[in-house]
Amino acid sequence: MGSLSPYAGRRVCLTTRHGKERALARPFLHGLGAILEVAPCDTDQLGTFSGEVERLGDARATCHRKALLGLEASGLSLGLASEASFGPHPAVPLLSVGQELLLFVDLERGLSVLEQRLDLATSLARRSLEPGELASEGVQAWLAQVRFPSHALIARPAEGHPGPCLKAIRTQAELEDALARCAAASPEGRVWLETDMRAHCNPTRMASIRRLGFQLVRRLGRPCPACGAPGWGLQATLPGLPCSCCGTATALTAQERWGCAACPHTELRPRRDGLQQADPGHCPWCNP
Ligand SMILES: [Zn+2]
Ligand SMILES: [Zn+2]
Repeated sequence: MGSLSPYAGRRVCLTTRHGKERALARPFLHGLGAILEVAPCDTDQLGTFSGEVERLGDARATCHRKALLGLEASGLSLGLASEASFGPHPAVPLLSVGQELLLFVDLERGLSVLEQRLDLATSLARRSLEPGELASEGVQAWLAQVRFPSHALIARPAEGHPGPCLKAIRTQAELEDALARCAAASPEGRVWLETDMRAHCNPTRMASIRRLGFQLVRRLGRPCPACGAPGWGLQATLPGLPCSCCGTATALTAQERWGCAACPHTELRPRRDGLQQADPGHCPWCNP
Protein backbone atom coordinates (compact mmCIF):
# COMPACT_ATOMS: atom_id res chain seq x y z
CA MET A 1 0.00 0.00 0.00
CA GLY A 2 2.91 2.32 0.85
CA SER A 3 3.95 3.16 -2.73
CA LEU A 4 0.37 3.86 -3.88
CA SER A 5 -0.35 5.94 -0.79
CA PRO A 6 -0.94 9.66 -1.37
CA TYR A 7 1.14 10.24 1.75
CA ALA A 8 4.21 8.11 0.91
CA GLY A 9 7.40 9.84 2.00
CA ARG A 10 5.43 12.72 3.55
CA ARG A 11 6.10 14.11 7.02
CA VAL A 12 3.14 14.10 9.40
CA CYS A 13 3.24 16.18 12.54
CA LEU A 14 1.87 14.49 15.68
CA THR A 15 0.95 16.84 18.52
CA THR A 16 1.64 14.99 21.75
CA ARG A 17 3.51 15.34 25.00
CA HIS A 18 2.62 11.86 26.10
CA GLY A 19 4.68 9.59 23.87
CA LYS A 20 1.88 8.67 21.48
CA GLU A 21 4.43 8.34 18.67
CA ARG A 22 5.25 4.97 20.25
CA ALA A 23 1.78 3.79 19.21
CA LEU A 24 1.32 5.69 15.95
CA ALA A 25 4.66 5.82 14.11
CA ARG A 26 4.47 2.18 12.93
CA PRO A 27 0.93 2.26 11.48
CA PHE A 28 1.73 5.46 9.56
CA LEU A 29 5.04 4.16 8.24
CA HIS A 30 3.86 0.67 7.29
CA GLY A 31 0.36 1.60 6.16
CA LEU A 32 1.03 4.87 4.33
CA GLY A 33 4.79 5.23 4.04
CA ALA A 34 4.50 8.48 6.01
CA ILE A 35 6.98 9.66 8.63
CA LEU A 36 5.65 10.88 11.98
CA GLU A 37 7.37 13.79 13.69
CA VAL A 38 6.46 15.01 17.15
CA ALA A 39 5.41 18.65 17.30
CA PRO A 40 7.30 20.65 19.88
CA CYS A 41 4.37 22.37 21.55
CA ASP A 42 2.55 22.56 24.84
CA THR A 43 -0.88 20.97 24.60
CA ASP A 44 -1.68 21.71 28.25
CA GLN A 45 -3.14 25.04 27.15
CA LEU A 46 -5.96 22.98 25.62
CA GLY A 47 -6.81 21.49 29.00
CA THR A 48 -5.66 18.35 30.73
CA PHE A 49 -7.63 15.52 32.26
CA SER A 50 -9.37 17.16 35.16
CA GLY A 51 -11.89 14.42 35.85
CA GLU A 52 -14.57 16.27 33.94
CA VAL A 53 -16.49 14.25 31.38
CA GLU A 54 -16.03 15.79 27.98
CA ARG A 55 -18.72 15.50 25.36
CA LEU A 56 -17.78 14.03 21.99
CA GLY A 57 -18.19 17.35 20.14
CA ASP A 58 -15.84 19.01 22.60
CA ALA A 59 -13.30 16.20 22.30
CA ARG A 60 -13.33 16.47 18.50
CA ALA A 61 -12.87 20.25 18.65
CA THR A 62 -10.02 19.90 21.14
CA CYS A 63 -8.41 17.29 18.90
CA HIS A 64 -8.66 19.61 15.90
CA ARG A 65 -7.16 22.56 17.80
CA LYS A 66 -4.36 20.30 19.01
CA ALA A 67 -3.55 19.18 15.44
CA LEU A 68 -3.52 22.79 14.20
CA LEU A 69 -1.26 23.82 17.07
CA GLY A 70 1.28 21.22 15.90
CA LEU A 71 1.01 22.34 12.29
CA GLU A 72 1.66 25.93 13.31
CA ALA A 73 4.70 24.95 15.37
CA SER A 74 6.18 22.62 12.75
CA GLY A 75 5.26 24.43 9.55
CA LEU A 76 4.09 21.09 8.06
CA SER A 77 0.76 20.66 6.30
CA LEU A 78 -0.17 17.16 7.52
CA GLY A 79 -1.11 16.82 11.17
CA LEU A 80 -2.33 14.22 13.62
CA ALA A 81 -3.73 14.48 17.14
CA SER A 82 -5.63 12.25 19.52
CA GLU A 83 -7.98 12.93 22.37
CA ALA A 84 -10.00 10.81 24.76
CA SER A 85 -13.16 11.39 26.70
CA PHE A 86 -14.51 9.20 29.48
CA GLY A 87 -18.03 8.75 30.65
CA PRO A 88 -20.91 6.39 31.18
CA HIS A 89 -21.54 3.76 28.51
CA PRO A 90 -24.36 4.99 26.20
CA ALA A 91 -26.39 1.79 26.68
CA VAL A 92 -25.21 0.62 30.11
CA PRO A 93 -24.90 3.69 32.37
CA LEU A 94 -23.22 1.79 35.22
CA LEU A 95 -20.32 0.88 32.95
CA SER A 96 -17.68 3.46 32.28
CA VAL A 97 -16.25 3.67 28.81
CA GLY A 98 -13.43 5.48 27.06
CA GLN A 99 -13.95 7.12 23.72
CA GLU A 100 -10.72 7.54 21.83
CA LEU A 101 -10.51 9.91 18.87
CA LEU A 102 -7.75 10.22 16.30
CA LEU A 103 -7.88 13.05 13.80
CA PHE A 104 -5.78 13.53 10.67
CA VAL A 105 -5.62 16.99 9.09
CA ASP A 106 -4.46 17.61 5.51
CA LEU A 107 -4.24 21.36 4.92
CA GLU A 108 -3.38 20.98 1.22
CA ARG A 109 -6.55 19.04 0.44
CA GLY A 110 -8.65 20.77 3.10
CA LEU A 111 -9.39 17.39 4.70
CA SER A 112 -9.97 16.37 8.26
CA VAL A 113 -10.44 12.63 8.73
CA LEU A 114 -11.60 11.19 12.05
CA GLU A 115 -11.51 7.68 13.44
CA GLN A 116 -12.95 6.81 16.82
CA ARG A 117 -13.53 3.82 19.02
CA LEU A 118 -15.36 3.05 22.21
CA ASP A 119 -13.24 1.08 24.60
CA LEU A 120 -14.74 -0.68 27.58
CA ALA A 121 -11.33 -1.66 28.88
CA THR A 122 -10.13 1.95 29.10
CA SER A 123 -12.05 3.11 32.08
CA LEU A 124 -11.64 6.05 34.39
CA ALA A 125 -11.98 5.14 38.07
CA ARG A 126 -11.65 7.10 41.28
CA ARG A 127 -12.19 6.66 45.00
CA SER A 128 -11.37 8.33 48.28
CA LEU A 129 -9.52 6.70 51.14
CA GLU A 130 -7.49 7.32 54.28
CA PRO A 131 -3.83 6.29 54.18
CA GLY A 132 -4.54 3.68 56.91
CA GLU A 133 -6.96 1.88 54.57
CA LEU A 134 -4.29 1.10 51.98
CA ALA A 135 -3.80 -2.50 53.16
CA SER A 136 -7.53 -3.20 53.39
CA GLU A 137 -9.13 -5.79 51.13
CA GLY A 138 -11.41 -3.22 49.47
CA VAL A 139 -8.59 -0.88 48.52
CA GLN A 140 -6.34 -3.72 47.39
CA ALA A 141 -9.16 -5.06 45.17
CA TRP A 142 -9.67 -1.58 43.68
CA LEU A 143 -5.93 -1.25 42.98
CA ALA A 144 -5.98 -4.62 41.20
CA GLN A 145 -9.05 -3.58 39.21
CA VAL A 146 -7.38 -0.37 37.94
CA ARG A 147 -4.25 -2.45 37.17
CA PHE A 148 -1.90 -0.57 39.48
CA PRO A 149 1.12 -0.49 39.23
CA SER A 150 1.27 -1.19 35.46
CA HIS A 151 -1.28 1.66 35.11
CA ALA A 152 -0.38 4.85 37.00
CA LEU A 153 -2.49 6.81 39.51
CA ILE A 154 -3.10 10.44 40.48
CA ALA A 155 -3.55 11.51 44.12
CA ARG A 156 -4.90 14.73 45.59
CA PRO A 157 -6.46 15.82 48.90
CA ALA A 158 -10.13 14.79 49.15
CA GLU A 159 -13.12 17.16 49.37
CA GLY A 160 -11.50 19.60 46.95
CA HIS A 161 -8.98 20.94 49.45
CA PRO A 162 -6.04 22.75 47.90
CA GLY A 163 -2.78 20.86 48.03
CA PRO A 164 -0.53 18.68 45.97
CA CYS A 165 -1.83 16.93 42.86
CA LEU A 166 0.58 14.08 42.37
CA LYS A 167 0.57 12.37 38.98
CA ALA A 168 2.18 9.33 37.39
CA ILE A 169 2.32 7.31 40.64
CA ARG A 170 3.75 3.94 39.61
CA THR A 171 5.20 2.23 42.68
CA GLN A 172 4.03 1.20 46.14
CA ALA A 173 6.55 3.59 47.72
CA GLU A 174 5.33 6.51 45.57
CA LEU A 175 1.74 5.64 46.44
CA GLU A 176 2.42 5.59 50.20
CA ASP A 177 4.30 8.87 49.98
CA ALA A 178 1.53 10.49 47.91
CA LEU A 179 -1.18 9.31 50.34
CA ALA A 180 0.73 10.76 53.29
CA ARG A 181 1.32 14.12 51.59
CA CYS A 182 -2.25 14.51 50.31
CA ALA A 183 -3.83 13.37 53.59
CA ALA A 184 -1.76 15.98 55.42
CA ALA A 185 -3.36 18.68 53.21
CA SER A 186 -6.92 17.49 53.90
CA PRO A 187 -8.58 18.38 57.25
CA GLU A 188 -10.41 15.02 57.13
CA GLY A 189 -7.18 13.21 56.33
CA ARG A 190 -8.72 11.74 53.18
CA VAL A 191 -7.22 11.38 49.71
CA TRP A 192 -8.75 11.12 46.22
CA LEU A 193 -7.08 8.50 44.06
CA GLU A 194 -7.83 8.20 40.40
CA THR A 195 -6.47 6.51 37.32
CA ASP A 196 -3.91 8.59 35.41
CA MET A 197 -5.41 8.40 31.93
CA ARG A 198 -2.55 10.11 30.08
CA ALA A 199 -1.39 7.77 27.34
CA HIS A 200 2.16 7.27 28.65
CA CYS A 201 0.74 6.29 32.06
CA ASN A 202 -1.90 3.91 30.78
CA PRO A 203 -0.79 0.99 28.57
CA THR A 204 -4.41 0.05 27.84
CA ARG A 205 -5.01 3.49 26.32
CA MET A 206 -1.75 3.30 24.41
CA ALA A 207 -2.87 -0.03 22.89
CA SER A 208 -6.22 1.51 22.04
CA ILE A 209 -4.48 4.42 20.28
CA ARG A 210 -2.37 1.96 18.31
CA ARG A 211 -5.48 0.08 17.08
CA LEU A 212 -7.05 3.41 16.18
CA GLY A 213 -3.89 4.32 14.25
CA PHE A 214 -4.22 1.21 12.06
CA GLN A 215 -7.93 1.96 11.59
CA LEU A 216 -7.18 5.55 10.46
CA VAL A 217 -4.37 4.46 8.16
CA ARG A 218 -6.70 1.95 6.44
CA ARG A 219 -9.24 4.73 5.90
CA LEU A 220 -6.59 7.15 4.56
CA GLY A 221 -5.46 4.46 2.12
CA ARG A 222 -8.95 4.19 0.59
CA PRO A 223 -9.81 6.80 -2.09
CA CYS A 224 -13.38 8.08 -2.44
CA PRO A 225 -15.00 6.30 -5.45
CA ALA A 226 -16.49 9.63 -6.59
CA CYS A 227 -13.71 12.22 -6.14
CA GLY A 228 -10.60 10.18 -5.32
CA ALA A 229 -9.84 12.01 -2.07
CA PRO A 230 -8.20 9.90 0.66
CA GLY A 231 -10.32 8.96 3.67
CA TRP A 232 -13.22 6.90 2.33
CA GLY A 233 -14.85 4.81 5.06
CA LEU A 234 -17.60 4.07 7.55
CA GLN A 235 -19.51 7.15 8.68
CA ALA A 236 -22.46 5.64 10.54
CA THR A 237 -24.23 2.39 11.28
CA LEU A 238 -27.96 2.34 10.63
CA PRO A 239 -30.16 0.24 12.92
CA GLY A 240 -33.21 -1.74 11.82
CA LEU A 241 -32.04 -5.33 11.17
CA PRO A 242 -35.35 -7.22 10.80
CA CYS A 243 -36.38 -9.91 13.31
CA SER A 244 -36.05 -13.40 11.80
CA CYS A 245 -39.44 -14.37 13.26
CA CYS A 246 -41.77 -11.41 12.62
CA GLY A 247 -39.77 -8.95 10.52
CA THR A 248 -39.97 -6.06 13.01
CA ALA A 249 -36.99 -3.67 12.85
CA THR A 250 -34.59 -4.21 15.78
CA ALA A 251 -31.92 -1.92 17.22
CA LEU A 252 -29.21 -4.04 15.58
CA THR A 253 -27.25 -2.61 12.66
CA ALA A 254 -28.93 -3.26 9.30
CA GLN A 255 -26.65 -1.24 7.04
CA GLU A 256 -23.48 0.82 7.11
CA ARG A 257 -23.19 4.25 5.55
CA TRP A 258 -19.77 4.90 4.01
CA GLY A 259 -18.76 8.39 3.04
CA CYS A 260 -16.06 10.75 1.85
CA ALA A 261 -14.25 13.34 3.95
CA ALA A 262 -14.01 15.76 0.99
CA CYS A 263 -17.25 15.48 -1.00
CA PRO A 264 -20.88 14.60 -0.14
CA HIS A 265 -20.73 11.14 -1.78
CA THR A 266 -22.08 8.29 0.40
CA GLU A 267 -23.00 4.64 -0.18
CA LEU A 268 -25.17 2.26 1.82
CA ARG A 269 -23.59 -1.13 2.35
CA PRO A 270 -24.82 -4.34 3.97
CA ARG A 271 -23.33 -5.42 7.30
CA ARG A 272 -19.80 -6.69 6.88
CA ASP A 273 -20.66 -10.00 8.59
CA GLY A 274 -23.45 -10.72 6.07
CA LEU A 275 -26.11 -11.08 8.79
CA GLN A 276 -29.54 -10.29 7.27
CA GLN A 277 -31.91 -11.11 10.13
CA ALA A 278 -31.85 -10.58 13.87
CA ASP A 279 -32.39 -13.23 16.51
CA PRO A 280 -35.91 -12.79 18.01
CA GLY A 281 -34.16 -12.18 21.34
CA HIS A 282 -33.39 -8.65 20.04
CA CYS A 283 -36.96 -8.07 18.82
CA PRO A 284 -39.11 -5.48 20.65
CA TRP A 285 -42.23 -7.43 19.52
CA CYS A 286 -41.21 -11.09 20.10
CA ASN A 287 -39.13 -10.34 23.20
CA PRO A 288 -40.27 -7.01 24.65
ZN1 LIG B 1 -39.96 -10.45 16.19
ZN1 LIG C 1 -15.35 12.22 -2.42
